[in-house]
Amino acid sequence: MNHDLKLFNTLTRSIEKLEPINDREVRMYNCGPTVYGFAHIGNLRSFIVNDTLRRTLEYTGHSVIQTMNITDIDDKMIARANEQGVSIHALGLEYENFLFADLKSLNVLTPHKMPRATDHIGGMVVMIEKLLRERFAYKASDGIYFEVAKAKNYGALAHLDMDAETESRVEGALDKKSPRDFALWKFETSDDYGNAYDASFGRGRPGWHIECSEMARDTLGETIDIHTGGVDLIFPHHTNEIAQSEAFNGKPFVKIWLHNEFVMVDGQKMSKSLGNHTTLKTITESGFSPLAFRYFVIGAHYRSKLNFTFEALEGAQNALRKLSEHIGEEVGSVNKDYQERFRDFVTQDLDTPRALALAWEVAKDASISPTDKTATLLDFDRVFGFGLATRKKETIPTHIKALAKSREEARENKDWAKSDKIRDEINSLGWNIEDTDKGPKISKLNS
Ligand code: AMP
Ligand code: ZN
Repeated sequence: MNHDLKLFNTLTRSIEKLEPINDREVRMYNCGPTVYGFAHIGNLRSFIVNDTLRRTLEYTGHSVIQTMNITDIDDKMIARANEQGVSIHALGLEYENFLFADLKSLNVLTPHKMPRATDHIGGMVVMIEKLLRERFAYKASDGIYFEVAKAKNYGALAHLDMDAETESRVEGALDKKSPRDFALWKFETSDDYGNAYDASFGRGRPGWHIECSEMARDTLGETIDIHTGGVDLIFPHHTNEIAQSEAFNGKPFVKIWLHNEFVMVDGQKMSKSLGNHTTLKTITESGFSPLAFRYFVIGAHYRSKLNFTFEALEGAQNALRKLSEHIGEEVGSVNKDYQERFRDFVTQDLDTPRALALAWEVAKDASISPTDKTATLLDFDRVFGFGLATRKKETIPTHIKALAKSREEARENKDWAKSDKIRDEINSLGWNIEDTDKGPKISKLNS
């Protein structure tokens, strides 16, 4: 049974039916990380949303070709590499590997293509040459600029008022033609430490936006079905990607633009520059599982802001543990009524909060047999990605929980000998107990 997928398109500000260019094959581009440091959980929300979208597409009978790029050359990369006295390549590889480990622990499926910007410089140069030839671009004192006045419908995605005065934050050379014109290429300056490439129009390095235009074109083609990113990318990044790609290809660039809202902390966007960010490492070191964070993310609609607190994460962790307890060893048949409702929710602009509430209805429905409950929840988990099928083995048996409780009592009474003895017993039964800020954490030994 195939369901049409409806998604909110930022370009039209409306919910639209996805109509893939190529039958049921969907080509999707996700703006990926800049690998100059650890990803924070705001970035990770964006990657979980992309993954949930891919899973929903696959669940509804589409085949997906997914690209997530790696931005490994830009001002932040160069500044951090210079600070550490390493090359941008070494820096990028290091943080790319940390990111891959985070994504794996969050059950994010590996995108089919993960191009690095530095492997695509040649293609960017070809794009800029054509944009120069066709007068969409021009040379100024510090680089090559895209001339916004030449683009059709510039700013439509962000609903920019092109008559309004441009804010002073628009950067670049004093001799560019208009404040809105943006850099395609930045000429080499003395402190670039060799992070520059030869090009017919002058040695230098690419601007950020052209990187994604080129990697999207090379890995997915001229017009793609879905392009995603956080809402902060609508302007300037995605607005400029559209201008460059459409000028170069002479075709529409993207059918549906999908943007996720922010993870917030005390009413502010989580970001490295505000210093209010949390990484997945902090979450696991505080005794939480990465999948508790995935549950927390999926419990909110992707277009709603999500305030992060450890209390909320604890709630998510408990809920996920309780949901896993409904997964038994034997798998019956999927309940068709519930499945139908589930499909309605996820295909209606990825309404994961309602889909999750439905999973709880299934869990609590006494009229469904435990084996059918297991089958239905595992079916939903193809979209949720909680790994419920493997988590069932992690269910902590009641006798281990009882031992952990006695150990807590012994600790409260400062009876360390007894508490150590109970720990040894727990270990001998194949379980580990670890004391964290949030209380004892029980897990399978060697798992
Ligand atoms: P970056 O590594 O900064 O290029 O960002 C990677 C992705 O994370 C982009 O799609 C951003 O829009 C997104 N992003 C950045 N900050 C947040 C946040 N606080 N909440 C959700 N998404 C974010
Ligand atoms: Zn991008």
